[in-house]
Amino acid sequence: ERSRLKRLKSMPAATLDGEAVQILANIELPPDAVQAKAVEADGVGLFRTEFLFMSRDTWPNEDEQFEAYKAVIKTMAGKPVTVRTLDIGADKELEGATRQEDNPALGLRAIRFCLAEPKMFLTQLRALLRASQFGKLKILIPMLASSHEIDQTLVLLDKAKAQLRERKIKFDEAVEVGGMIEVPAAALCLGAFTRKLQFLSIGTNDLIQYTLAIDRGNEAVAHLYNPLHPAVLKLIHLTIQTGAKAGIPVSVCGEMAGDPECTRLLIGMGLRQFSMHPAQILEVKQSILRADAADLGPKVQRLLKLDEPDRVREAVEKL
Ligand code: PEP
Ligand code: MG
Repeated sequence: ERSRLKRLKSMPAATLDGEAVQILANIELPPDAVQAKAVEADGVGLFRTEFLFMSRDTWPNEDEQFEAYKAVIKTMAGKPVTVRTLDIGADKELEGATRQEDNPALGLRAIRFCLAEPKMFLTQLRALLRASQFGKLKILIPMLASSHEIDQTLVLLDKAKAQLRERKIKFDEAVEVGGMIEVPAAALCLGAFTRKLQFLSIGTNDLIQYTLAIDRGNEAVAHLYNPLHPAVLKLIHLTIQTGAKAGIPVSVCGEMAGDPECTRLLIGMGLRQFSMHPAQILEVKQSILRADAADLGPKVQRLLKLDEPDRVREAVEKL
């Protein structure tokens, strides 16, 4: 079975009826890109940069970050590399930086933390911009909930660009900026996102947590953490469809994208960009190659009308 899967490596992902699909890799540290390249991922869809900041005493400076981002771009040799800005807090603690909070998942995390620490954020943005001249780098912002956070982020990005121009350092002037859709509020107010950003990426891990009010790391409620809850599926579907209408690419980069049991469902919802751990890529590609998008579309439309999680699960198993 493994050697059969290996034969799929160089095969472009497309459905039986010829819909092209991109399969990208999630990585945590630059060496992971080697694994992404080995399975011939179409690029990096999510580089979780907080791992560069974790397990150390001081934050990496601009040069260190620049080298890390550039290393990934070099490894991916011209393929797109989507780098997510620092996403700490809640399940991703940063020694000395994140403070103790009663509800860390609802606290000063991710983009909220970055906007509260503009010096640190500007350093990361400059490092990203500097790396952007070496390939196709895209910047992804985590945990956005409201349009003012997008505005503040873009103001800081402009400031970082101005600082580099002053230093006469080149960067990709047209670097794309995208937003994670992982808070229900974002999925329900997509207009602000599609007007101001160039792409969207659905973080199902957090979207499930915030939609169902289930702590993603709490064993006591893990049985209630249900990716197939109809409320979750409605938000994912809405995001994919709204992005398509606005002509904005939408990917899924949460665990759902790498779960072969969800592949047909996501294809039927209209998803054409998946980002996952490199180890999942070939198996998901196999499901895509066997899927008929035109056949799945109407079936998924019917399934989305169900409002009982158990009925949804049965319907997904039958797809
Ligand atoms: C997600 O929330 O689905 C996601 C991709 O981000 P993380 O798991 O790093 O929070
Ligand atoms: Mg997340």
